[in-house]
Amino acid sequence: MGTMPIPYHNAFAGAPSRQALCYVGRVASGPTVSVSVDLDAVECYFRIHALPGEPPTDARFAILHRCLPRFAELFARHGVPATFFVVGRDLEEDSEGRRLLESLARDGHELANHSHNHRYELVRLGRARICQEIDHAHTAIAACSGQAPVGFRAPGYEVSAEVIDLLCERRYAYDSSAFPSVPYYTAKTLVMAAMRLAGRKSGSYLGNPAILRAPRTPYHPSDSDPYRRGQQPIWELPMAVSPWLRLPVIGTTLISAPDWLRTRLVAATLREPFLNLELHGIDLADADGDDFPPALIARQPDLRLPLARKLAALDATLTQARAAGATFKTLRQVTAAL
Ligand SMILES: [Zn+2]
Repeated sequence: MGTMPIPYHNAFAGAPSRQALCYVGRVASGPTVSVSVDLDAVECYFRIHALPGEPPTDARFAILHRCLPRFAELFARHGVPATFFVVGRDLEEDSEGRRLLESLARDGHELANHSHNHRYELVRLGRARICQEIDHAHTAIAACSGQAPVGFRAPGYEVSAEVIDLLCERRYAYDSSAFPSVPYYTAKTLVMAAMRLAGRKSGSYLGNPAILRAPRTPYHPSDSDPYRRGQQPIWELPMAVSPWLRLPVIGTTLISAPDWLRTRLVAATLREPFLNLELHGIDLADADGDDFPPALIARQPDLRLPLARKLAALDATLTQARAAGATFKTLRQVTAAL
């Protein structure tokens, strides 16, 4: 495996174009909307909540077997080409999930790199291990989709100058890991502190607070700080936060917020030229019908919401975007047009 040549995408041109400049101007037509889904397995949530042991066999692939088909139907209903961030190891261990992702890629959805093992401490693993995490997933995803991935999202929203450098070496067109949300970061800090007080250590990491001052619109990162503008050829595509308060506009918010708040948050982000809407596979989990372990359901409040309510919230969001004149594109397509 180690000697296998890795097909990397070479058609990337790094120079910003006329279209990039419209980010500083007014929006002439409707916004561009990208919807992406991080396919974190149940095991990831076991680590975040410091649950003991491994998930039971039935639950191990529940995200790909139960939730992914619901996203496929949702996107088909709305004519949305989406970007799925895939964990490489799942493709090797789960043939049913792999077949489903293959068919989604055939239907025009993008499969992008979410690392091989979804290690929350990715940026601390050292250069050689980080390379393995990127390259093994790259090979597995390229083999599944028939197209070399050009985009990366780090586990736990934490990226580093080193990771960006390695992605540039591999001619990746974009990274989409920056999530500059103050309320999200504050809530994560409090939850992790509370867990530590209770004697439980989360498998997640808080990450560098520099992320909070990252730009909210696509930018080229600096070679010393991924959260500052600079000269790296890759694009950083930050995930959506609301203007001013930087409230997180991600799947968890959309499915949990009351309708009036969700509608306002989405409307605020749709007034901008580009909305990078990040969802997670677990956002369309059904705590009653799927095989999620009770210990996880007890710890994850959004998992307990009725599936019908969550689906209705995402349906309404996509309808709202369409009504605002949105054009839906994969992150690969967005970057190609920058
Ligand atoms: Zn993830």
